[in-house]
Amino acid sequence: MTHEKEPAALLNLDTQGFAFDPQDVTEASFYGIPSPAIHRAEERLLDPSVKSVAYFSMEFGLAPSVYHPYQTKGPLSPRNKKRDFEIFSNLRQMDYYHFVQSDTVVDIPIYSGGLGVLAGDTLKSAADLKLPLLGVGILWSKGYFDQQFCIHYGQLPGEFQWDPRTYPGLVKLKTTIELSIGHDPIRLNLWKYYVPSFDRRHAVPLLLIDSDHPENPDWARELTGQLYQSSTVWWKTVQRKILGMGGMKAIRALGYAIDVFHMNEGHAAFAFVEMAKGKGPEEVAALTEHFAYTCHTPVEAGHDRLPIDELANVLSDEELIIAERFGQDKNPALVNLTILAMNASKHVNAVAKKHEEVTKIQFPDHEEKIRGITNGIHIPTWISRPFEQLFDEYAEIFGNWQDSPDSLHRVTHLLHDRAFREKLWGAHKQNKHRLLEWLRPWMLRDDVFTIAWARRAAPYKRPSLILQRPGRLVEIAKQHGGLQILFAGKAHPNDFAGTGNIKEILNIIDSLQEQREHLKVIFLENYDTYIAKQLISGVDVWLNNPLPPFEASGTSGMKAVLNGVLQLSTMDGWVVEAADNEIGEIFGHRSENGELGREMDLRLQEDSDSLYEKLELMVRDYRQVEQAQPEDRHASKWIDRMIHCLEVASFFNTSRMVTQYNQGIWRMAPIG
Ligand SMILES: *Cc1c(COP(=O)(O)O)cnc(C)c1O
Repeated sequence: MTHEKEPAALLNLDTQGFAFDPQDVTEASFYGIPSPAIHRAEERLLDPSVKSVAYFSMEFGLAPSVYHPYQTKGPLSPRNKKRDFEIFSNLRQMDYYHFVQSDTVVDIPIYSGGLGVLAGDTLKSAADLKLPLLGVGILWSKGYFDQQFCIHYGQLPGEFQWDPRTYPGLVKLKTTIELSIGHDPIRLNLWKYYVPSFDRRHAVPLLLIDSDHPENPDWARELTGQLYQSSTVWWKTVQRKILGMGGMKAIRALGYAIDVFHMNEGHAAFAFVEMAKGKGPEEVAALTEHFAYTCHTPVEAGHDRLPIDELANVLSDEELIIAERFGQDKNPALVNLTILAMNASKHVNAVAKKHEEVTKIQFPDHEEKIRGITNGIHIPTWISRPFEQLFDEYAEIFGNWQDSPDSLHRVTHLLHDRAFREKLWGAHKQNKHRLLEWLRPWMLRDDVFTIAWARRAAPYKRPSLILQRPGRLVEIAKQHGGLQILFAGKAHPNDFAGTGNIKEILNIIDSLQEQREHLKVIFLENYDTYIAKQLISGVDVWLNNPLPPFEASGTSGMKAVLNGVLQLSTMDGWVVEAADNEIGEIFGHRSENGELGREMDLRLQEDSDSLYEKLELMVRDYRQVEQAQPEDRHASKWIDRMIHCLEVASFFNTSRMVTQYNQGIWRMAPIG
């Protein structure tokens, strides 16, 4: 028997098409995780008697740099190592001489921000909950983009380099599929990546598509190059066609028996068009039973409205007729992918309670279908080591918290436990110390109040709000023992306002060089999940200042509360549901009485004023706990709030979220 060939054949691997080390995939092990977990997941998806779900998403942020990386017998290719990166700070001489280093695998670069990280966390919780789910996405051969800072210019976007052929755990399949772009047929490759459960005993397959096939003409090989390549409507449309229709064809080609097709954002709406082709009106109406759609944003740019004359260059006549019929926009020259996804789906959900309210106002025709299921984060991915150890140490309170994070709400039993309170502060200080060590050349201080703003630099998130009045910041810093501010985030290269925000921040940082003794401001390049994990656990306060009600949910603050990091936030997204729990300070404009306001009216003046007011309060409170005598520290109010943060983490996680999706929409039975 040829033992080494068998497992590869079982998984339908194209061992020529990627740099395959036979030792990595054996009968017993798939890149270090038990193979039976993978075979079982595949069998369930193929079995028509098992109810299963395909989850389509333009992006997936899986974060192997911080959680469950795959082992490979060979060395890690230098192209798949996370690159050293630069910093732009008001200690400019440090920026010239130092890089920030990390020694991990680069994230699979197929995400741009929170939408992708949520999709990744969803797959991980589905694996933890043993659900027969399949992820469907695109393998972006050039990732999103590489970000470099340049004074007086802002962000310089470059091409991101990595090597899918040698990426540990990513495997190519023998099967390929065909798809037409206008009148041209092209061939698409299929790949798999398996997302393991926290105990590595189950897995969820992620099916990825790419167009870099040698039979394709050059123009077609580039189509899955850059995520959100939006230089023309044609590009946008083609990328969406590959996800929706290509994804559906890939599912058929591999023989999966799927019951529910879940479209994570309208990007995937063409999946329904593919399914509706060749069917009569009654059959098409019945299809909606099998579709579900999650809407992720109230922001205009998040809703694709594509001109019909452009669509005609990408879709066939029949496809266009279906798209027009289900995706009718208020402008008759456009097809609206949000409307298409809503009409196609029996279940439509928003991503927080407030967002449910807003979505119903924005889409009154679908009001009855729309429900809110609040987002979450995958706890085993986002918890830091010191907090993991602390929860394990108190196992009699938290039980098997990785399996059922709901038990974290029992942290309130420890509210008056002096030893726990002291250890909690100690765990936080370990995280902060680790972050500052990582940024050592910039000489940040462990006893100085440290706050971070890090996420996509989209205008409604107001990246520069805290820098609106630098003089006021310096004043707060001088009066209360100093201030350290960390920034990270990319703006989409075609987003004029977002890239403008980055330039503005760099200019303000540059102007603060004389103030560096009291106020240190640092902007990290190339925000990703690796940097996110350092920041969300290592700072004292997480800053979240979107303009209400345009942040549908937000998830980075959920990662921070899990690690006892307090919130300074506007009243928007998930925070609306957590604000009564004393997790920090709330400030600024509120969206009330069903008024949406305008996305462009950013209220920078008045909201920065109230930000500074609450910031000053928090810096004071922080000084109090930092300067307390060690024997008195446990009594500090700051530690009460840290405990309330942990309490809310018991709800804002994807274990709870995926359970709600399954109970309300998918209705799958866990793998026995
Ligand atoms: C969690 C995360 C986000 C989401 O941040 P929001 O605050 O929800 O906008 C974006 N990017 C990365 C890398 C993340 O880890």
